[in-house]
Amino acid sequence: MTTPSEWIETDYLVIGAGSAGCVMTARLSEDAQSKVTVLEAGPRDSNPWIHVPIGYGKTMVDPRINWKFETDPDPSIAGRKMFWPRGKVLGGSSSINGLLYVRGQSADYNHWAQLGNTGWSYDDVLPYFRKAEDQENGPDDFHGEGGPLRVSNLVERNPLCEAFIQSGVAAGIPRNDDFNGARQEGIGYYQLTTRNARRCSAAVGYLRPAAKRPNVRVETDAAVHRILFEGKRATGAVFKRNGTFIGVRASREVILSAGSIKSPHLLLLSGIGPAEQLQQYGVPVVQDSAGVGENLQDHYGAFLSYRSRLPLTINDIMMSPLRQVKAGLQYALMRKGPLTISAAQVGAFVKSHPDLDAPDIQFLFQTFSHGDFEEGLDKFSGFANVVHPSRPESRGTLQLKSADPEDVPSVQANYLSADYDCRVIVDGFRLARDVARQDAMTDHILAEIAPSADLQSDDELLDYARQTGLSIAHQVGTCKMGVDPMAVVDPTLRVRGVEGLRVVDASVMPKLVSGNTNAPTIMIAEKAADLIKSGA
Ligand SMILES: Cc1cc2nc3c(=O)[nH]c(=O)nc-3n(C[C@H](O)[C@H](O)[C@H](O)COP(=O)(O)OP(=O)(O)OC[C@H]3O[C@@H](n4cnc5c(N)ncnc54)[C@H](O)[C@@H]3O)c2cc1C
Repeated sequence: MTTPSEWIETDYLVIGAGSAGCVMTARLSEDAQSKVTVLEAGPRDSNPWIHVPIGYGKTMVDPRINWKFETDPDPSIAGRKMFWPRGKVLGGSSSINGLLYVRGQSADYNHWAQLGNTGWSYDDVLPYFRKAEDQENGPDDFHGEGGPLRVSNLVERNPLCEAFIQSGVAAGIPRNDDFNGARQEGIGYYQLTTRNARRCSAAVGYLRPAAKRPNVRVETDAAVHRILFEGKRATGAVFKRNGTFIGVRASREVILSAGSIKSPHLLLLSGIGPAEQLQQYGVPVVQDSAGVGENLQDHYGAFLSYRSRLPLTINDIMMSPLRQVKAGLQYALMRKGPLTISAAQVGAFVKSHPDLDAPDIQFLFQTFSHGDFEEGLDKFSGFANVVHPSRPESRGTLQLKSADPEDVPSVQANYLSADYDCRVIVDGFRLARDVARQDAMTDHILAEIAPSADLQSDDELLDYARQTGLSIAHQVGTCKMGVDPMAVVDPTLRVRGVEGLRVVDASVMPKLVSGNTNAPTIMIAEKAADLIKSGA
C-alpha cells in the first residue's frame, strides 16, 4: 500500500459520518480536551433533495451520494440481485432514508441481553432513545424532549391513509398512535425524523452543531482504505482523496461506523476476519474472527399494489405539471403538502398468528406505487402496502471479493431461505388483503394490480414474493455484538481480540429489531459514547 503523504493527529478517529458516526463525533467532542476526527467517504450534505422529505425518491438512486450496492444473485429470490441503497454523504443513510421513526419492541432488546449482551436490555437502552429524542408530542415515560433528533408527526394526512387505518381497525387491528410507546401492536401513522418538514438526519441533528467546535475535524471525500495496527492495537487509518493517501493517527481509539456493509468490509481489508478468507486474498491476518460478515439480516418486503379510484395519490401529482407546481409552492410557502411525506405514511404491526406474544409483520402503507426504483412512480393512479416479516430468520453473509478497497464485497443475502420467513410473508399478504377488503378501502380500490386477484394459493403468493420483493434497507448484524465465538464485538462494542478499536453502527445488532433501524442505530451510538466516556 502507498505510504501516506501527510498525517493528521487526533484522539478519537471515527470512520464514517452516518447515523452512528455523527452521534459519536458529537458526543465524544463534548469533552473539549478530546480531539475528534471523522472521515466520510461521501461529500457534504448540500444536495437539496436530501433535506426535502420526499426527496428520498431522488437520492435513492443518486450515485453522487449513494453507494448503490448490489447483492450477488440470490437463489432464494429467483436468482435476482438485490439493489441496496446506502447513504454516501454526511449523515450516511440517515440522509437518504425513508424518515420513519420506529424503535422496535422492548422484547428485541431484552433478547439482546439474554444473548449475553449485558447492558442492552430495554430498560438499559430506553434512556438513550429518550436522550436522543426531541419528540413533537412532548416527553413521557417513553419519549424525550430537547435531544438532537427531532421526531415529528406527519403533516400531510391523505384520505387514503385515513381509509387504510379505518379498514385496519375494521379488520381487527387495534388503533395505535404511538408505535414507540407501551406497545407496538396496532395501526396508525408513522412519526418522522423531521424538523419543520425538513429532514433531521444525524448530520443535521448531531454533526452540524458539533462541527462548530474547535476540537472537531470533519473530512469529506475521505474513503478509508485500511485501519492501521501496531501489533494488535489499532492506531489509525489511511484514506484516499483525489488519488492521494492521507494517514490519521488516533491516540485513544478508532471507532468504525461505516455501516453494515462497509464496516465488516473494512475489518476484512484490515486483517480482521475469518483467517482462511483473509489468506485466500493475501490480506495479512491481524485477528482471526470467524463472525465478520456473517449473521447478515435485513427486512424483505413484498408489495401489494392497487389502482386507485380517485386521483389522490403521489403518482397523480407526478403525472400533472400543474399539481407539481402547486405541491412545490405549498412546501416552499407553508412547509405542507405532499413533499413533506415519509416513505410510508401509515404503519401496522400485526401478528401472523393470534397466539403470538408480539407482532411479527410490519406494514408500510404508501400513497404511491412504483416498480423499479430507477423508473420512478407508476404512470397511473396507484398506491401500495408493503408487508414484511419483522423478525426474519434468514441469514446472509458478506465476504471479500478481492483485497482492493475500491472493490465492493460479495454479498449473499439469502432473503427467503428460512421456511419461517416464507410462511410469514404469505400470512402478511393474507392479512393485508383482509384490510383491503373492508369498506373504507374498497371505496378507493379499483383493483389489486399486484400480486393480483389471480394469485391466491400460498405457493403463488410466495413465488410472487420471491420474484418481486425488495430490500427494506435495514441491513444489520455483520459485526455482531455478543459473547459467543461468532461475536465480532463484545457488549462494550470493542472488537474482540484487538485493542483500541470499536465498531459502533447497525452492524453490531446481534438480531434485527422488529422495526426500522435508524433510531436503534442512533441509540447504539448514544450508549457507546457513554461507554467510552466512562472508560468501559
Ligand atoms: C433508502 C433507505 C431507506 C431507509 N429507511 C429507513 C426509515 O425510514 N427508517 C429507519 O429507521 N431506517 C431506515 N433506513 C435504515 C437506516 O437509515 C440505517 O439502518 C441507518 O442509517 C444505519 O446507520 P449506520 O450508522 O449503521 O450506517 P450509515 O448511516 O449508512 O453510515 C455509514 C457511513 O459510513 C460511510 N463510509 C462507508 N465506508 C466508508 C469508508 N471506507 N471510509 C469513510 N466513510 C465510509 C458511509 O458513506 C456512510 O456515510 C433506511 C435506509 C436506506 C438506505
